[in-house]
Amino acid sequence: MSLPSVSILPGLVSSRPLSSSPPVTEGISRVLLVHTEPGRRHALQELLVDDGYDCLGVSDADEVLRLVAEYEPDLILLATDLPGACGLEVCGELRAGDLQGQTPIILLSEDSIDEEEVARGLLAGADDFVWAPDRPIELSARIRVQLRNKRYRDALRRLRNERDHLRRETAIDPLTGLLNRRSLEQVILKHFEARERFAVLFADVDHFKSVNDRFGHDVGDRVLKAVAERLKAAVRPGDASARYGGEEFVLVVAGAGPESARIVAERHRKAIESMDASELGGPEHLTISIGVAIHDPRNSLQTPDRLVRNADAALYTAKRSGRNRVEMAEPDDEPRLVGEIAAEALRRPSNDSSVSAVIRTLPSGGGA
Ligand code: GH3
Ligand code: MG
Ligand code: MG
Repeated sequence: MSLPSVSILPGLVSSRPLSSSPPVTEGISRVLLVHTEPGRRHALQELLVDDGYDCLGVSDADEVLRLVAEYEPDLILLATDLPGACGLEVCGELRAGDLQGQTPIILLSEDSIDEEEVARGLLAGADDFVWAPDRPIELSARIRVQLRNKRYRDALRRLRNERDHLRRETAIDPLTGLLNRRSLEQVILKHFEARERFAVLFADVDHFKSVNDRFGHDVGDRVLKAVAERLKAAVRPGDASARYGGEEFVLVVAGAGPESARIVAERHRKAIESMDASELGGPEHLTISIGVAIHDPRNSLQTPDRLVRNADAALYTAKRSGRNRVEMAEPDDEPRLVGEIAAEALRRPSNDSSVSAVIRTLPSGGGA
């Protein structure tokens, strides 16, 4: 089987319609052609160049993997009858090195191919299998289709990357790299919805205003970053650390009850107490105060807002009690079940035993 003279191709090629519009072309596509027979290889190369591609032709199958890395082709045309190596094996190796299937591979056979061979080639990772030499127009069209699909896939991948990047940007506090307040709210909500017990640790740097006043705002920023790093380093996988705002941080400790939450909070407090920020141009000593609130899933009256408010209230107590300390939030009637509270209210002698009177006896914020 011989190739028709390539000189007749340009006219034919230019008159054929595109099956659909490809996305905006991004430069000249590179095609790596692997074919051992020099005459055929040159003829195919001419065809590809006439079609407007940059083409690198090679005969040695052993070179293919190296060239793919160096030449970064947009498409690979691979003859199946390579000496010393089966084209299908090379195809499988190429696919194994390109698991996302970024580079289309078209297998070429010089002989007529049976159904099984086509199936083997496609299953080895090829995107298409062409009995090429006698059908240059068809080969040309198949190459175009593969490149068009690749451009769509590339555009989709770029969009996904941008989307992931934007998602990360909107979830993260830019100064410290911790979660921002919005992401923290989502973390807390997830724990609530999963009906899990967990602790919220509300930490605030003590006398941070004086750090800014003494050392300047830039040093203040560096110190905040260092505090965030310390807190993050002491956080277990599965727990979350967030910058709530200013010099305030919130840590979420999954599964923690009062005892373990206090231990974790003490660990964080000590981590900051042992920090020397003078290397950053800041103070030698720095401390934080922490308020801790526990969510008990049996308490159907608690809300994420209320939990954080309780931790904040405990933090306020820690500040008033001298700072550099951990305070636990008052268990605000929480573990008591609604039914239990309602039954008690109904037992109480009252002139008004209506439902609204019972609701008024429930802990504040729970009647909403
Ligand atoms: P307390 O122990 O009561 O928490 O005292 P404090 O000085 O830490 O608290 P206060 O609320 O009076 O001051 C907080 C300071 O934190 C004031 C504000 O300028 C500073 N701050 C908030 N956000 C940032 C920031 O992103 N960078 C810097 N450098 N300073 C910040
Ligand atoms: Mg403070
Ligand atoms: Mg504060």
